[in-house]
Amino acid sequence: MNLIQLQDIDIKNKKVFIRCDFNVPVDQYGNIVDDRRIKSALGTINYCLDHDCSIVLASHFGRPKGGYEQKFSLSPIAKRLHKLLSTEVILAPNVICDETIAIANKLQNGQIMLLENMRFETGEMTNDEKFSKTLSGLADVFINDAFGVSHRAHASVAGIARHFDHTCKAAGFLLSREIEFFHHIVEQPKRPFVSIVGGSKVSGKLEALHNLIKKVDKIIIGGGMAFTFLKALGHEVGKSLVELELVEDARDIIDEARALGVKLYLPVDVIVADKFDSEAVAKNSTIQEIPRDWIGLDIGPATTLLYSQVLKDANTILWNGPMGVYEMDKFSKGSYKLSHEVARSFATTVIGGGDTADLVRRAGDEDDMTFISTGGGASLELMEGKVLPGVEALVKG
Ligand code: AMP
Repeated sequence: MNLIQLQDIDIKNKKVFIRCDFNVPVDQYGNIVDDRRIKSALGTINYCLDHDCSIVLASHFGRPKGGYEQKFSLSPIAKRLHKLLSTEVILAPNVICDETIAIANKLQNGQIMLLENMRFETGEMTNDEKFSKTLSGLADVFINDAFGVSHRAHASVAGIARHFDHTCKAAGFLLSREIEFFHHIVEQPKRPFVSIVGGSKVSGKLEALHNLIKKVDKIIIGGGMAFTFLKALGHEVGKSLVELELVEDARDIIDEARALGVKLYLPVDVIVADKFDSEAVAKNSTIQEIPRDWIGLDIGPATTLLYSQVLKDANTILWNGPMGVYEMDKFSKGSYKLSHEVARSFATTVIGGGDTADLVRRAGDEDDMTFISTGGGASLELMEGKVLPGVEALVKG
């Protein structure tokens, strides 16, 4: 995909509006517990500072109901940015008001203003045209660097871009990297290309499965969604998660894989529990012998071995979705072991999705992966083969 890059446009001495994703996790006291998203935006911000720009930063944060709420103010983010950039960051009193517009108008080269939480304005999520236009009036150039929300048609992500021509808008470094990487991996993978798909349900990943099956050489299925596939093959899966209405779709995917010569792998054993609880009684069971009242919550050791074997000759691995309920110790082993296996491989390894990224970090394998995508929903939509609304306007025409 040919995106307008930041280096392609003239930003010298201009006022730039950068849409970032500062939606960082905070603890119960409001402290930022992981500032990776803020740090990853610094590349684009520093590039603009080096080109003598004045900067208007925008982001959403949490889920305010619409209207100002102290709890969702970007104030802690302004402070962290100030610390990381060693430059004053002016926090605007709101998203758009006379005072904010006045500060934006007076911004000098090298100065930074952070707008308040975009979602304090109801027009943000409805992609309101008037609001988009008002936002666009704050700057000469629009830069989208918020990969994590680029699958949303929101005003500060999508609507605003319509008000800038191709010489005045671009993808920031972070967004470019995410899009180019994903595109490259999915469209020109080094083969064998293996995709691992897990997580809770088939429904959330149905389109991704349909798209991927046409591109991969092998597909490994795990997590809760595996049980709908096993059901489609006629297995009894006890009380495990099954989406009965999708059993037909699962069967279609199995048939499509067979017709295309794609090798599709399902668990041969699982860790079953007498209830969905970290204190549950758990044991290993083959797929053929899952007890009627028990629930499958992780892949079993034979499956882990099988999947490790499947990965041995991979040159590209794309992973989205854990193999089990990795948040509970008892049901995390399958996901952790597979993570170690992926990390150990010589393939190009791409991790997409918030849960999988979290899992890989918990397993201590983060540094050994080629690329960990920052956006869960956005990376899933890329796997579905969609052009993201926040990216569409930035494709070279
Ligand atoms: P998703 O958001 O669809 O990627 O799903 C991630 C969630 O799937 C994680 O929170 C896991 O706990 C959950 N999950 C994985 N395996 C299972 C399973 N066998 N049964 C129920 N939930 C599962």
